[in-house]
Amino acid sequence: MGKHTEWRNMVKKERRRRIRTLKAKEIESSLEYQNWCKEQEALELLEAEQIEKSNKIENDKWVQAEQVALEEWKKIQIKNESLLQKKLQQQAKLKLEWELEKQKREREAERLKEIEEENRKRQEIFMNNLEKFLNGDLMEPPKELLILYESKPNCEPCPFFTKTACCRFGDECSRNHKYPGISKILLAANMFGHFGLENANYNEYDTDIMLEYEDTDTYKDFKDFFLDILPEFQKFGKVVQLKVCNNYEKHLRGNTYIEYADIRSAVQAYRALHSRWYGGKQLSLQFCHLLSWNYAICGLQSSKRCPKGRACNFLHVFKNPVKLHEENRHSERPRSTPSRSWRWSESPERPVTKDKEMEKHSRRSSDSKHRRHRYHRSSSYRKRNG
Ligand SMILES: [Zn+2]
Ligand SMILES: [Zn+2]
Repeated sequence: MGKHTEWRNMVKKERRRRIRTLKAKEIESSLEYQNWCKEQEALELLEAEQIEKSNKIENDKWVQAEQVALEEWKKIQIKNESLLQKKLQQQAKLKLEWELEKQKREREAERLKEIEEENRKRQEIFMNNLEKFLNGDLMEPPKELLILYESKPNCEPCPFFTKTACCRFGDECSRNHKYPGISKILLAANMFGHFGLENANYNEYDTDIMLEYEDTDTYKDFKDFFLDILPEFQKFGKVVQLKVCNNYEKHLRGNTYIEYADIRSAVQAYRALHSRWYGGKQLSLQFCHLLSWNYAICGLQSSKRCPKGRACNFLHVFKNPVKLHEENRHSERPRSTPSRSWRWSESPERPVTKDKEMEKHSRRSSDSKHRRHRYHRSSSYRKRNG
């Protein structure tokens, strides 16, 4: 073999080697590539996993938050529901209470109406019996007129009512109040109304104030009052006692007691005056029974030693400006001075001139009974049932 062949062989060899190397390199680079691809794939997978994991966490968080919100919402709904229920219950309760209250008021109104109706009937019967007694010849009143009304027949008698025919508790008093059908004494409750008694700017326990009263306005007005009412009451018969209270206590304030010599006069006065008006107020006249004036009038009043003053539960009375037996004697003669009966009226208004006319007329006519029948009377019932 020549040198050329040898060289060619070497070149070929070298070329093959190079090709092998290249191929090897190719192979190698392809492996690397594959490896890289695998790596990339793994990385992508990992990334995807990571993303999925993170998404799941986010999702879980969201679901959880959603759950919490739902729970909260449910709680609020339950709370609202219970508040609504409570409100409805409260409203139902109020409505029920209101209904019960209304029923109670209606029953009370019904009860009062029944009492009023009963009083009206009793008063009607009473007035009929009075008429019969006055129109008849009997000196003694029929027993229907003596029948007592008792507020609590099975209880002990009320000491105040027994002595003064008045009690601060009215017929709500726990003790018994015994009312006579008729009697010689009439009581006109709160008849003497006076600013000095009603708006007293006084020391309740000042016992002397009214006893030094001769020149006070209250006393002057009392005097007018006394001289005004006395002749009116004397028209029906001989008045043996007339007492006007100056107590401050409401149930005694201005109370006026008129005692007649006989029962027939008292009954006549009652029939004529019980529904009349005096000084703008309707009279509240009733028959009353007193054990004695000494029991009724506070024993310590005159000696100025009553510790209760005019807050006393017994009668503190004005000193009468005239002696009654003298007045009675005078009244038998025709009166020379015009009667001041402007305070009297048949209705709430004060028809001054009309009353003066009537007064003139009454002085001309001796038959006052006949005259009074013609007067309009507003309905009134004795307030014996409180
Ligand atoms: Zn009583
Ligand atoms: Zn007293």
